[in-house]
Amino acid sequence: MSNIEKKIKQNEPMKNHTSFKIGGTADLFLKVATIEELMQAIEYAKTKKIPIYFIGNGSNLLVTDKGIRGLVVKIDIQNISIQKAENSVKVTVGAGYKMMALARELLNQEITGFEEFAGIPGTIGGAIYMNAGAYGKEMKDIVISTKCMDLDGKIFTLSNKEQEFTYRDSIFEKNNYIILETTLQLNNGIKSKIENKMTKLLKERKEKQPIGEPSAGSTFKRQEGIITAKLIDECGLKGYSIGGAKVSEKHAGFVVNSNNATAKDVLDLIKYIKEKVYEKYGIKIEEELRIIGEE
Ligand SMILES: Cc1cc2nc3c(=O)[nH]c(=O)nc-3n(C[C@H](O)[C@H](O)[C@H](O)COP(=O)(O)OP(=O)(O)OC[C@H]3O[C@@H](n4cnc5c(N)ncnc54)[C@H](O)[C@@H]3O)c2cc1C
Repeated sequence: MSNIEKKIKQNEPMKNHTSFKIGGTADLFLKVATIEELMQAIEYAKTKKIPIYFIGNGSNLLVTDKGIRGLVVKIDIQNISIQKAENSVKVTVGAGYKMMALARELLNQEITGFEEFAGIPGTIGGAIYMNAGAYGKEMKDIVISTKCMDLDGKIFTLSNKEQEFTYRDSIFEKNNYIILETTLQLNNGIKSKIENKMTKLLKERKEKQPIGEPSAGSTFKRQEGIITAKLIDECGLKGYSIGGAKVSEKHAGFVVNSNNATAKDVLDLIKYIKEKVYEKYGIKIEEELRIIGEE
């Protein structure tokens, strides 16, 4: 048995790896901390002829009740290096680095420009893939370049433009590229100012979002000029539930796992919300969360 095979877990409950705390088991599950391990994982899946999936912190994922056939690889690459110059700062950070941990590290190093992202409960890799954003800023606004790998194990670097960032989307989904690390353009700042901004935005988040309840964040995408959560609220759906899944009473844009919800409960509720919004407004809303697993 190879070293990588020894590290692979079998029948791993995906509810332990998603912020929704929902999902059946993955046949095989592996956490990789290095590029070498990632390459071995890809090789393993190829040899065994099984599908392979990549996740970060699972904060934008709904895994189906039947779970995932194949190998799930959690990217946990954690390198960080900071290059400070007089007028700018470049930060290169591994895909597995958590957004909150990075925000804290940048605060300690008196680096500004990342405060808006502090409360996003994912990894850098997930944030690049999703072009995550908050408070008027998206990852595309601070990314210089991203190092990634294709499914043949070829490693290359994409410029900001080449990553084709759009609203909650990028080239990585389309081309099945795995994100290894990214370089961010930030600035020298003043610790107290950075801290004040971060504290204010985190407080705002706590007031408006159901942080204490398991969810995958905003269930639906925003649309040009339309606040989806407002439409859902105006359909009278706040607090509406199917099984253990509920439209958050605090923020109508969040479906929460309020009582041991199954993935089916969530999917049924999503379908119901879409129907109600379409009936009332004639607008088709689209999921922001990513769904994986056997149907
Ligand atoms: C309470 C809460 C608040 C949130 N607030 C926000 C917010 O303000 N703004 C926002 O944009 N989002 C928000 N989200 C959603 C989520 O946190 C983001 O989308 C985040 O960027 C996902 O990162 P992740 O590491 O958890 O990715 P995952 O959920 O693990 O994965 C998301 C997608 O990215 C892919 N992926 C992950 N890592 C890699 C990699 N290294 N290489 C290739 N593909 C990869 C996965 O295959 C999957 O398709 C929130 C979620 C919660 C629960």
